[in-house]
Amino acid sequence: MRTDSNDAPVRYAIDAADKICFVDDAWGLFAEANNGTALTRSAMLGKSLWECISDPATRTLYKQLVARVRQGQLAEFSLRCDGPSCRRLLEMRISAAADGVVEFETRTVHAEDRPPQALLSPDTKRSSELLRACAWCNRVNVGTTGSEWVEVEDAVERLRLFERGLAPQLTHGICETCLEGVMGVIEKMEVPA
Ligand SMILES: [Zn+2]
Repeated sequence: MRTDSNDAPVRYAIDAADKICFVDDAWGLFAEANNGTALTRSAMLGKSLWECISDPATRTLYKQLVARVRQGQLAEFSLRCDGPSCRRLLEMRISAAADGVVEFETRTVHAEDRPPQALLSPDTKRSSELLRACAWCNRVNVGTTGSEWVEVEDAVERLRLFERGLAPQLTHGICETCLEGVMGVIEKMEVPA
């Protein structure tokens, strides 16, 4: 377990129109730790949260979570947010504030270093080929059936990614395991009739 300043909780919030209205100081450190793959703080402010989520399935799930939170429920779940040289497990807490504002707080519950993964680096040259990564557990989709998801290191080896020339571009999706997990979180948030 690594503890450093990057492990400070990161908070951001959206207003009643779902626009990002607050991003705290820790965001910058966090974006830096991820080699700037996350948006900078000033680029985030005023943006619709939904514009920041590229995967349609993930966007739909967050919309459901936010809707439940605005009904007075609390959303809590964990997700991975790896950097090229770090594996990181976050605990996400989404709660309602006044005037339709919804607050997001992520806290690092586990972080460990790993050898830098070129597949995750923004500096890596890419081909036009696409490879899907789960936005929630950060595993990569390998194999032909579409249902096999493995850690980045295993995907590089299995697909011989860097022996074939340029690395593919990563796109985001959600794996079956995470979809089930998040659906479970949403179901538990159902307001009792
Ligand atoms: Zn997943």
